[in-house]
Amino acid sequence: MQPGSAYDILIIGGGINGAGIARDAAGRGLRVALCERGDFAGATSSASTKLIHGGLRYLEHGELRMVRDALSEREALLAIAPHISRQLRFVLPHVRELRPAWMIRLGLLLYDHLGTRSSLPRSYGVDLRGSHYGAALKADLRKGFVYSDGWVDDARLVILNLRSAQFHGATILPRTRFVAARPERRSWRARLQRSDGRWIDLEARVLVNAAGPWVDDVLSATTVVPSRPRVRLVKGSHIVVQRLYDGDHAYLLQNDDRRVVFVIPFGANHTLIGTTDLAVESPLVPMTSSPAEVEYLCQAARRYLRQAVAPEQVVWSYAGVRALFDDRHRDPASITRDYTLALDEVNGSIALSILGGKLTVYRRLAEAALAKLHRRLETRRGTWTAGEPLPGGDLGTGGMNALIDRLRARYPALPPLLLQTLAQRHGALSDEILGDARSESDLGIHFGAHLFEREVDYFIRYEWAQTGDDVLWRRTKAGLDMPAPERIRVHDYVRERANEAPSPAREGG
Ligand SMILES: Cc1cc2nc3c(=O)[nH]c(=O)nc-3n(C[C@H](O)[C@H](O)[C@H](O)COP(=O)(O)OP(=O)(O)OC[C@H]3O[C@@H](n4cnc5c(N)ncnc54)[C@H](O)[C@@H]3O)c2cc1C
Repeated sequence: MQPGSAYDILIIGGGINGAGIARDAAGRGLRVALCERGDFAGATSSASTKLIHGGLRYLEHGELRMVRDALSEREALLAIAPHISRQLRFVLPHVRELRPAWMIRLGLLLYDHLGTRSSLPRSYGVDLRGSHYGAALKADLRKGFVYSDGWVDDARLVILNLRSAQFHGATILPRTRFVAARPERRSWRARLQRSDGRWIDLEARVLVNAAGPWVDDVLSATTVVPSRPRVRLVKGSHIVVQRLYDGDHAYLLQNDDRRVVFVIPFGANHTLIGTTDLAVESPLVPMTSSPAEVEYLCQAARRYLRQAVAPEQVVWSYAGVRALFDDRHRDPASITRDYTLALDEVNGSIALSILGGKLTVYRRLAEAALAKLHRRLETRRGTWTAGEPLPGGDLGTGGMNALIDRLRARYPALPPLLLQTLAQRHGALSDEILGDARSESDLGIHFGAHLFEREVDYFIRYEWAQTGDDVLWRRTKAGLDMPAPERIRVHDYVRERANEAPSPAREGG
C-alpha cells in the first residue's frame, strides 16, 4: 500500500506504543500507516531504564492490578524477544531506617506470586558479607534481598515491532511529521510532511495518537478538544559510567527521599544508573540531564557502592520524558504509570490517544487499543502477538547459547565476541548480515566496537537508519565503546550511504 491511499488506521508516533499497535493491527489484516517525524524510538522509547518489570516500588502505591498485568507481560516479552532481552537478578541492600525487612520480604513475596506463572527464580534473602552480590557494596551493608526481573533493548524492541508490522503489510513512514487532520464522513483527511519537504495526503478511518509527550499537540491539530489537559510530563535521566563491578547482577538502591535508583550492567564495559523524576512543562528535544540530576544519581550510588562515583566519571547520559496520565498526584514519582486510552469523536470521526503506560505493557496496550476500536474496525483475527516471536526471536531449540554455537560453527574465522554481539542484536536474523562472509575483511569497513560496514548497510536498508546517531545510539550502543574519530567516521559513512538509491525500508512499503 502506498502513501496517498485509504487506510484503516493512521498511527502518529513511532515509539513503542505506536510500533506495537501497528504490528498488532497489521497482523489482524487492517490497512495500517504509521508516521514518525524523527527516528523511530528517537524520544522516550530509547530513554527508558529498559526494564521489563512489574515495578516493585508500585506495590507501595497500591497499584496491584498494574503490577500483576506487567508481570504477566514480562513473561510474554521474554518469550517473543529472547534475543534482545534477558533475565536480570536484582540485589536490594537492606537499610533498616528506610524500610523494615519484613515489609520488603512481604513485598517480594507478593511480587513473586502476583503475575501468571513466572519462569524467573523466586526472591530470597542474602547475607551480603559472604556473597559476591555484596562485593561491590560498602562493608556495613550486611543483609539484602535478591529478586528477578527482565531487561530489554528498548530501541531495538521498537524497530523489531515495526519490522514485524511491515512484514504484515503496514506502511511505515520514517521522518514524516503529522501536520493536521480534519474529520470527513466518519474518517479523517490527514496531511503529513516528509523531512525533504514533500507532502503526503491520506485518508484514514481512525487516528491513533501515540505521540507520547506530544500527545496533546497532535490532538490540537485534529480539531478534537479534550475536556481537560490529560498528561503530566515527568522527566527522567540516566548516567553511564565505566563498569563499577564484576557480575551480571543489578542493584536496586533505596534513596533517602523514598525513591529507588537502579544500577545496572550496561554492555560489556559500562554501568547504567537511573533515574530521576522531575516535573517539566514541555518535552524539549534534545532532552538533556541537568548537573543536579547527575549529582543526585552519583550520590545515590555513592551511598551504597564501594567504588567512588562522581560526575566527572560520566561517559554518557540521556534523558526522556514520561507522558503520564494526570491522576492529580502532586509528587511526580507518585503519579500512576498505568495507561489510559482516550477515545475522542468529532462529527463521527474518532481518534484514540494513548496516555501513560510503560514499555513493559506495550503489547497488552496495543491489544486494548484494538479492542477499543473494535466497533469501527472489525477484524477477522483476534489477539495474536504473544504467540509469534518478533523478527529474529525464533531462536530454535537451545535458545541463545545454541544460536551462538551455530554461528561459531558456520563462521569459524569470525571473532566469537562479534558473533555474540550480532546474535544479541539480530537473533536468528544474524545470518542475513553475515551472509557468505568467511573473514572479517568480507564484512567491509570496521568502524570499531564490532560494528562493520555490512551491518551498517543492513540498518540503512532494513531498519530505516539515516544518521550516525540512529546507528550509534539506537540500532546499537556502539557509540559508547568508540572514540570520537571512529564515531565521526560512522556519521560520515551513514550520511553518504543513506542518500544513495532509496531502500525498501525507506520507501516505507
Ligand atoms: C526515564 C524513564 C525511564 C523509564 N523506564 C522504564 C522501564 O524501565 N520500563 C518500562 O516498562 N517503562 C519505562 N519507561 C516508560 C516507557 O519508556 C514509556 O512508557 C514508553 O517509551 C512510551 O512510548 P511512546 O511510544 O508512548 O512514546 P515515545 O517513545 O515518546 O514516542 C512518541 C513518538 O511520537 C513522535 N511524534 C510526536 N509528534 C509527532 C508528529 N506530529 N508526527 C509524527 N511523529 C510525532 C515522537 O517523535 C516520538 O518518537 C521509562 C520512561 C522514562 C522517561
